[in-house]
Amino acid sequence: MTDTYRHKGLRNKLVQSLRKKGITDERILSVMNQIPRHFFLEKAFEEQAYKDQAFPIGCEQTISQPYTVAFQTQLLEVKKREKILEIGTGSGYQAAVLASLGARVFTIERQEALYKKTKQLLDDLGFSGIRMYFKDGYLGLPEFAPFDKILVTAGAPEVPEKLLKQLKIGGVLVVPVGVKIQRMLRIIRLSEDEFKQEEWGDFRFVPFLSGIQKRGL
Ligand code: SAH
Repeated sequence: MTDTYRHKGLRNKLVQSLRKKGITDERILSVMNQIPRHFFLEKAFEEQAYKDQAFPIGCEQTISQPYTVAFQTQLLEVKKREKILEIGTGSGYQAAVLASLGARVFTIERQEALYKKTKQLLDDLGFSGIRMYFKDGYLGLPEFAPFDKILVTAGAPEVPEKLLKQLKIGGVLVVPVGVKIQRMLRIIRLSEDEFKQEEWGDFRFVPFLSGIQKRGL
């Protein structure tokens, strides 16, 4: 895998376009300017890796659109050393962004083939601090809870209750909720049983499915 001047130039343009679309957190723009997104895509999509689009990554799944990655990350307000749980590892790109911001990242994927492929990739790229699990994300990771932040990168039909319970007090869950179109929700845990919910516009994600899938790519 090589990261050429051409890739860097295209990446810089992509980041400029994210800024124009309203992403204001310079730390996020800076890590997205550093991470070669084309490493996370099939060779066939290499030429298009720096378009602001989602692309297929196998198992009927997609790498999220860069704007969506930046937007969700911005909503999380990531601070260094925070413990963050991501649901839906997919290509590993979002996890790499979180880790590059200094978070301690735990990530869950339900597709075995994607889990294996992405684990290898993240290790090869030096992201060996990211802890990856082949599990059903609906259950979260109770053994490592509570988390400062939880990020769901698949469209959930409703707010996943088990994940709310794995937040610290003051912790934040960012989750797109809806069936065909998802409303981006940011939910802040105010106390043991009080939550504040904000809505941040409509997005489209692949579905948050229950159970695990032991199948090849
Ligand atoms: N964050 C990813 C986005 C991948 S798309 C990236 O940066 O590429 C969403 C992912 O969520 C898919 O890989 C899908 O298999 C996964 N997913 C869906 N339901 C899940 C569940 N219950 N547990 C874990 N992962 C799930």
